[in-house]
Amino acid sequence: MTSETTPCPERVRVRFAPSPTGYLHLGGARTALYDWLYARHCDGSFILRIEDTDRKRYVPDSVQDIMDGLRWLGLDWDEGPDVGGEYGPYIQSQRLDLYQKWAHWLVDEGKAYKCFCTPEELAQMRKEQQARGEPPRYDRRCRYLTPEEVAQREAEGRPYVIRFKTPLEGKVVAYDLLRGLIEVDASTLDDFILLKSDGYPTYHLAVVVDDHFMEISHVLRGEEWIPSLPKHRLLYDAFGWEMPLHCHLPVILDPSGKGKMSKRRAEKSGLPILIRDFREQGYLPEAMFNWLARIGWSYDPEVEIFSREEAIAHFDLKDINPKPAAAPYSKLDWLNGVYIRRLSVDELLERLLPFLSRDLDIPEDTLRSDERLRRLLPSVQERIKRLTEATPLVDFLYREPEYEPAMLIARKTTAAETLAALQAARDVIAQTPFEADALEKALRDLAAQMGLKAGQVFAPIRVALTGKKVAPPLFDIILALGREETLRRLDKAIALLRQWDEEGQ
Ligand code: GLU
Repeated sequence: MTSETTPCPERVRVRFAPSPTGYLHLGGARTALYDWLYARHCDGSFILRIEDTDRKRYVPDSVQDIMDGLRWLGLDWDEGPDVGGEYGPYIQSQRLDLYQKWAHWLVDEGKAYKCFCTPEELAQMRKEQQARGEPPRYDRRCRYLTPEEVAQREAEGRPYVIRFKTPLEGKVVAYDLLRGLIEVDASTLDDFILLKSDGYPTYHLAVVVDDHFMEISHVLRGEEWIPSLPKHRLLYDAFGWEMPLHCHLPVILDPSGKGKMSKRRAEKSGLPILIRDFREQGYLPEAMFNWLARIGWSYDPEVEIFSREEAIAHFDLKDINPKPAAAPYSKLDWLNGVYIRRLSVDELLERLLPFLSRDLDIPEDTLRSDERLRRLLPSVQERIKRLTEATPLVDFLYREPEYEPAMLIARKTTAAETLAALQAARDVIAQTPFEADALEKALRDLAAQMGLKAGQVFAPIRVALTGKKVAPPLFDIILALGREETLRRLDKAIALLRQWDEEGQ
């Protein structure tokens, strides 16, 4: 592990720039996490920018979902759509004037041009290229229109897009912090669109204009954007602006390491990929933070668990491994269990309340003030790996247990023996001081007297009280239910078993 991190530049401004085309997923959250870690490590600013220029793929509640997910993970932003800031607005659809101005500036400078080709012409062009076995791309016919031809088309009111005049030859050289120089032949790039005919910018124009005017120092984004980097290089050069440092983050693979962790793959394997699903499934944000941080970044190969503060202190872009990283889902439950056990009982209760309230249909306040529930939590805490696993361990407090009478019969005992054990245990519980040690001793003595193992007496009591074979420790259950309710449930079990036995099962 490197004990010293790379010195920070003087002014670090990083942005997370999601497109609101879907809910926050693993990849986006990991990008945001690294952005945030770097900003916090360098005492810089973390900016949230919404890139909503693709109107066709817009998902209305995704902005809210993205913000909720980031906040849940504890990734607070210093500037953004809801908190404001000096460089706003932070939603691209509110910055259209700026993109239009700079696209036209490039046209005026002779670095971009208006293209009047209609969708039909473009389709025809593609068809002919395909017929000739050529890769489909714009053939640049409008690049060579005379000023008069352009003026005439404009006078006719024909719609146009603005395209970049990509150099016809030479190399385009861009730099990625993790991979070094990335070089492509300009001839492989086409005259990409900057401004669409509806006045909306393309991603390429908007991202460059915004990163420049928002004074972004470092662009951290997914590896899938590497092919765009040369285009951005050309745009920065055309504008005469300094290019921020770019760092493309490794692809996240599925646990087998065989393919990209996509929504489809996640659905097929039943694994969560959306942050809202992780949350729903009872993962703690601090465990998610820890788990996500390690997908592609090595804090220290020996250290699995670290706090936010430790991550901030150690974060260094040079320790990000550009190789694709498999998401170790098998570790997540274990890690979550570790974080659950670190909570105080009060904290655990607060985290559980939304789940319990929803599952049991009881208001949070009622549950919060229920001493019986609180009493069970230490043993619940030892047993769960996800918050959702608590409900079946405590629901017996609020629901009449339901079970088949045969479930009461412990291993290697008969119905008659179980009936006798339950009756005797009922009387012991009625007469013994209501306190765990005394009850346990009395019931163990009872088992010995009856020639049974302690478990053969405890098991039917557990089923009678909870309706389950697996539940928190028996004496926690008895104390949580109280004497009266314990006896009532035992009586009910005795009656059930007797009837079942008499009816010849
Ligand atoms: N809006 C892009 C996305 O959806 C962000 C790309 C970038 O960070 O430059 O992921």
